[in-house]
Amino acid sequence: MNKPKMTTEKGVPSNSRVVMLLGQLERMNGEAVPGDAEMARHVTGKILHLIQTQEKTKKEMTAKGSSGMEVILAALENMQDLQTVLNILCILNELVSVGGGNRVGVLVSKGGTAILLQLLLSASKDVPPSEELMLQLHSILAKVGPKDKKFGVKARVNGALNITVNLLKQNLQNQKLLLPCLQVLRVYSSNKANSRRAVDRTYVPALLTIYQDWHRNDTRHRHAHIRKGILGCIRNVTNIKLGRKAFLDADGMRILYSTSTECLPVRTLDPLVNTSSLIMRKCFPKNRLPVPTIKSVFQYRLPHVPAEGPVAQLYRQPPEVDDVVDESDDNDDADTENDTENEEDDRDCCLQNDDIETDLNKLRPGEQASRTMEELRMYERFFSELSEDFQGYHFHGSSPCQTPSLPSKSLSRIVVPTAPDMTPSDSNLVQLECADRALDQRPGEGLEQALVRELGRVALDGGAAPNGQRPAAESEVEREDDCSSHSSGDQAVLEVPDTAALLPLHDPELYVEMVKDTRSVPQYSEVAYPDYFGHIAPTYREHIVERLYGVQRSKIFQDIERMIHPNDILDKVVYDLDLQSCPVVDDGECLKFNSLFESGNLRKAVQVRKFEYDLILNSDINSNHYHQWFYFEVSSMRAGTPYRFNIINCEKSNSQFNYGMQVLMYSVREAINGRPCWVRTGTDICYYKNHFSRSSIAAGGQKGKSYYTMTFTVTFQHKDDVCYFAYHYPYTYSTLKMHLQKLEALRTPQIYLRQDVLCETLGGNSCPLLTITAMPQSTSNDQICQFRNRPYVFLTARVHPGETNASWVMKGTLEFLMGTGPVAQSLREAYIFKIVPMLNPDGVVNGNHRCSLSGEDLNRQWQRPNPDLHPTIFHAKGLLQYLSALQRVPLVYCDYHGHSRKKNVFMYGCSIKETVWQTDVNATSSDLHEDLGYRTLPKILSQIAPAFSMASCSFVVEKSKESTARVVVWREIGVQKSYTMESTLCGCDQGKYKGLQIGTRELEEMGAQFCVALLRLKRLSSPLEVRHASHFLEAEGDLIETSCRNTSSTTYVLKEDEPSFMEEVDYSAESDEETDPQENPGDEEHLSDSEAVQQHPFT
Ligand SMILES: [Zn+2]
Repeated sequence: MNKPKMTTEKGVPSNSRVVMLLGQLERMNGEAVPGDAEMARHVTGKILHLIQTQEKTKKEMTAKGSSGMEVILAALENMQDLQTVLNILCILNELVSVGGGNRVGVLVSKGGTAILLQLLLSASKDVPPSEELMLQLHSILAKVGPKDKKFGVKARVNGALNITVNLLKQNLQNQKLLLPCLQVLRVYSSNKANSRRAVDRTYVPALLTIYQDWHRNDTRHRHAHIRKGILGCIRNVTNIKLGRKAFLDADGMRILYSTSTECLPVRTLDPLVNTSSLIMRKCFPKNRLPVPTIKSVFQYRLPHVPAEGPVAQLYRQPPEVDDVVDESDDNDDADTENDTENEEDDRDCCLQNDDIETDLNKLRPGEQASRTMEELRMYERFFSELSEDFQGYHFHGSSPCQTPSLPSKSLSRIVVPTAPDMTPSDSNLVQLECADRALDQRPGEGLEQALVRELGRVALDGGAAPNGQRPAAESEVEREDDCSSHSSGDQAVLEVPDTAALLPLHDPELYVEMVKDTRSVPQYSEVAYPDYFGHIAPTYREHIVERLYGVQRSKIFQDIERMIHPNDILDKVVYDLDLQSCPVVDDGECLKFNSLFESGNLRKAVQVRKFEYDLILNSDINSNHYHQWFYFEVSSMRAGTPYRFNIINCEKSNSQFNYGMQVLMYSVREAINGRPCWVRTGTDICYYKNHFSRSSIAAGGQKGKSYYTMTFTVTFQHKDDVCYFAYHYPYTYSTLKMHLQKLEALRTPQIYLRQDVLCETLGGNSCPLLTITAMPQSTSNDQICQFRNRPYVFLTARVHPGETNASWVMKGTLEFLMGTGPVAQSLREAYIFKIVPMLNPDGVVNGNHRCSLSGEDLNRQWQRPNPDLHPTIFHAKGLLQYLSALQRVPLVYCDYHGHSRKKNVFMYGCSIKETVWQTDVNATSSDLHEDLGYRTLPKILSQIAPAFSMASCSFVVEKSKESTARVVVWREIGVQKSYTMESTLCGCDQGKYKGLQIGTRELEEMGAQFCVALLRLKRLSSPLEVRHASHFLEAEGDLIETSCRNTSSTTYVLKEDEPSFMEEVDYSAESDEETDPQENPGDEEHLSDSEAVQQHPFT
């Protein structure tokens, strides 16, 4: 009477057929003596029949609260009759497949594993064991194993492991039984101790032999599952170091390489190729990056070294320490260098939910001990607009066309001795002269030589380049002079492009002048031709390229071939900054490289095969990593031949190069032919983890990390061209200085433009500061008052040197602000703009990706900038603190950035409410009573700027960002509308530019639209002048109501917005397992939480 009853959930009729049968079975379980075998067979057979024919029966038995599973397991433990046991196993097999395998967990939690393993043990004692029983048992164990963390241990302890292995050995040709056995074996081998045992017993070569055997005999590919099962075991065993060694010793690389090559033509065998390639990549012996140190080639001694942090570590590191590889890397047997690596080194993108700021004190406005008014008075000179009374200035009134007497000189300009003279006086003199200059190219002479001969002045000191490359080229020209040029009369005449006519802000002569004052650590003496000629955005559309299936795989196979056929590899160093005299191999058999110019950063080039080069990027100065940005020159190429380039020391775990982004190329020959443009180029582009090991020093203490390869293939159009490659459209510091000087020429009497030097950088470059607003209409009190009281808009850009797109957006903003149209004029009348267009000139000049010369990310220094180490940040913040002290807190602050992993243009802002929503923090209602004004500007932008996407914006404050400009300006200065504006490096996936890669035209347009949006923002607060809170809020409220409703309120970004690869041979794990849901135990649970949050932020 007290026995547990079959309980059922509501909705399940307790008198249903299956419940009755289970009740019967339960009674039989309870009987002391096993009862009638016939009866048990009958009952279990009936249940099986019901389950197989009625979906609802499965659900009933596995529903919450149902004890069906327990009854079945109890029966399995009790019953001896073979047929009954088989019936029960079939029932279990059916049950565990309900809901995509979710019921397996129930079976495990009810102790099913032990019962099944015990059954396996006793069944193995029968001679011979029942094949059907073994088959059923293994197929269910294959499903149960991955859900039971202790499965591998349990199986080893109870002896089941050996039974499976023996069974496997005896049934190598038995395809029916082999598959489930392999599947179980694979689960066993996911346990490290089991894997070690497998290695000890020489199972690795055995498995390889079996694999080859099946590969050879399964000519019709009917048993690909078995072959994959074998690979699955190998893959697990090679997760441990011993396993990888055994694999290499057994010639595994060659075996899997040749079998895969044979499988390649058959698309249905892709899973085999993919798994093979995964194993081969894992086992590929780690190579040393061919550099003496990972520290930058160029040294810059800091005035003082920060007490802590990566720079301090770098300085403390004894010179004899090998920082390229870890010493102990090889005997680290317990290591987990496997393919389930879930790494994250880009905190920008994938931060954990626990990065959300939960300390309300850090979300509330608060000023960190600010500098006193006395200390801030040094900034008064940058705000002469606040005291200017314009007495003695003749307003245009009657003769608007007259040149004003005001420009720059009448305003007290602060000139730092090293600052370039930014007076516009000579702008008339620098008329472009190169328009008619012809370039004579002599027969047999490469373009490079001709350029050097004719435009030698582009190298600042007449071609005496430090690496000796230029002089070599020149002497060669002379030799050719002697022998050939007299005999041949006809010379190709090339026109040098008149880019000035097309590019109003560009002037090659002026550019060279600017370069002369630019200080670089390597003391560059050359100028890259693209920066000299300028860039005109191409008129055609550049589509985001569709990734072809199998590209990554074929690249990886080519890399593996290096190991299989070492004799085919040239390994010829053709460029090397680490050597005093950079080798210049000019045997006509290889490309020539160069990168010794502003923003260049190629460290080394190695010719691997005839048309393939490994490239290594230089680290940021005073750092040992940050490799992403690149800019270098290539010459001596053949036309029509595909060249493969591999940048082999990339660090991020993923890249937009995997999602349709192409590299940028600039051809000097095309420029000379009238097309001076950076164009998107490259085929077979992909980004993947490679076999070059990254030392723990370079990987933030983590061992066993690898670098990543960014590979692209280019077929040059012209022979002997000079081409440049870049990560994104270059924009050097000298370019900025040139643009700023040309900007002066756009001044009209209506424009108030002042250029100051905010400060000098560590490297001795000046950091420009611009003030732009409208001139007052007269010197009347009212006008002067209106002039002085305009709200400030504070803009900064290019704190991160590798984000050149930020500079192009800034260029668009500046040009718009200097425009003559009515919108520009209204905008100037509405605000005073304070702009620091390049917060990190040194980083830009020296080809850094992320840091300044101090080796630090300047956008993490805003809380406590050091005046010596971070002068531009210290003083930019000083300007804001000064304004704050004057009660003139800017209305808007925006810092322009580039984003390497997302598409479109979008903003990050700061909202206490939206941050708190993401956490469980209990906030008082006063904290949550927040003006929604921070959403207005991005909202307007999403309406008017085609590249802008509201859906990508986020207003959540993260801990890791607490020292960024945006957060500090929001919290300490009190600017509610404080933003980071991120522009994609790749392209857009929405709006008018959907499917297109972004170019300078779109970026500049974005900068202009930002201005237009500011005017709209102003108008939303009109007609009454600024700060009419009620009006303001209503208008904004409406705006948000009308268009914000339907879109998601905030995407909690931070997760990449890319779909997974079509081709998933990826380092990111077991991803080729689409056919095997039981892979990756535990992963589903792990992911579901965070995914739910990210997809439905407010549910
Ligand atoms: Zn940035």
